[in-house]
Amino acid sequence: MTEHMQQFVRLPQKPPVKRGASERREDFGEIYREFDQPGAATQASRCSQCGIPFCQIHCPLGNNIPDWLKLSAEGRLEEAYEISAATNTFPEICGRICPQDRLCEGNCVIEKGFESVTIGAVERFITDTAFENGWVRPIRPRRERAASIGIVGAGPAGLAAAEALRRQGYQVHVYDRHDRMGGLLIYGIPGFKLEKPIVERRRLWLEDGGIRFHLNQDIGGALSFEALRGRHAAVLIATGVYKAREIAAPGSSLAGIVPALDYLIASNRKGLGDDVPDFESGLLNAAGKRVVVIGGGDTAMDCVRTAIRQDAASVTCLYRRDRANMPGSMREVTNARDEGIEFTWLAAPEAFLGEDHVTAVRAVRMRLGLADASGRQIVEPVAGSSFTIEADLVIKALGFDPEDLPGAFNEPGLALTRWGTLKVGSKDFMTALPGVFAAGDIVRGASLVVWAIKDGRDAAAAMHKYLEQRESFATAAE
Ligand code: FAD
Ligand code: SF4
Ligand code: SF4
Repeated sequence: MTEHMQQFVRLPQKPPVKRGASERREDFGEIYREFDQPGAATQASRCSQCGIPFCQIHCPLGNNIPDWLKLSAEGRLEEAYEISAATNTFPEICGRICPQDRLCEGNCVIEKGFESVTIGAVERFITDTAFENGWVRPIRPRRERAASIGIVGAGPAGLAAAEALRRQGYQVHVYDRHDRMGGLLIYGIPGFKLEKPIVERRRLWLEDGGIRFHLNQDIGGALSFEALRGRHAAVLIATGVYKAREIAAPGSSLAGIVPALDYLIASNRKGLGDDVPDFESGLLNAAGKRVVVIGGGDTAMDCVRTAIRQDAASVTCLYRRDRANMPGSMREVTNARDEGIEFTWLAAPEAFLGEDHVTAVRAVRMRLGLADASGRQIVEPVAGSSFTIEADLVIKALGFDPEDLPGAFNEPGLALTRWGTLKVGSKDFMTALPGVFAAGDIVRGASLVVWAIKDGRDAAAAMHKYLEQRESFATAAE
């Protein structure tokens, strides 16, 4: 099929079909269906082929969006795939879970008078089609190099780096403390945003390309960081951020108050067919319970939507700012509301009530005040406005900070920023230790998958440069 471009004046935005809220509450399948080929081509043809494509500027990977949209509109999907894959290691994943409303689509020029091009859905369609047609070829380096590289963390940052380094011919070994690769792609993000076979498909592809995964390997635990460094010519730390922020309120240690990630990991493991005793015992299972989730980011949205799918009696999201100031993607907030989640904005927990087990949350109304030095409005409690919400399960989703890596790795030489993230050179991605690089959330703080991929790719390029320089010094010295 051949479509002319600039069809936005004639054709309305038509995203892929979204399953109805009552249907999707019944399972953990993705909520958007795939485009069919004519649907993708038609929607791609709405692009006006801007001279200065703001979509591309606002994509962290600088994806060449106008070109792959044009090729998709013309039905030249294999070429569209080649261009898309040149800048993005996992386009089908970003197409599913990037907050496009804040990135590419939110900056699409035609949004000035029309609705944006459905960039993410087309991106996903291109690579899913490429997989179906065998266009996603295995990684086959032109030459093998003897040097081996150790990557700690099999999340998107580590995996993107692994792919890029393997393409250069390095012997790439990825270590993770979990029993599956994927990081938050596998155990954090629920299936209704990203179905797990999509991640599994990439595992097979990476392994087929010669990347070696060492799972159940806690670096700093059974295998010391020093020993790991001894094994490899260079090391990349891509361990993410996992220290959950706590709530300092009376009663916060009552049973029935659980960290968001424990809850999401249990649900994802259950979906993957694992035995999950804490799910079976009810500890990390919302079925039949009155659930209160505290927080307003992506993690909180994933928890409320998981709880509703587990057949919770009620699900309330408590957030201290208002809807406009929620850090989570607006699209996800809308999806959550449609699925029956109740939002209590401008409210914060004051205390958790109950004898041994939580029975209620006492909350206080908040109001937005003046902006602080960062430009964000401060929030302050409204005196005498306390109220109570009954709860059998409270999920804390207040965000994550970095763990103490120098301590965990017994490596005081790893320099930190004042936020506790790893300090790296802005261009060379190297930590304070020679030959040790870092990328992803552990450098940036809790962020997005697309930024982790970008950092992983950039760090890989820097590592390659470093190793080549070392090789040429060694050759010169011979
Ligand atoms: P991670 O994905 O965290 O991977 C780090 C890996 O390192 C993990 O597998 C971990 O097991 C491993 N590791 C850590 N320490 C060690 C050790 N000592 N030894 C061995 N292995 C170790 N972003 C989006 O773009 N869209 C979303 O919809 C979205 N939803 C999210 C939902 C949730 C619930 C959460 C928590 C985050 C979400 N994010 C989302 C953010 C996104 O998942 C992260 O920004 C991204 O995964 C960071 O990638 P990373 O590779 O740096 O770290
Ligand atoms: Fe948009 Fe994310 Fe794809 Fe970039 S990677 S084009 S931001 S969906
Ligand atoms: Fe096309 Fe929108 Fe990008 Fe312009 S900003 S090139 S219309 S997708």
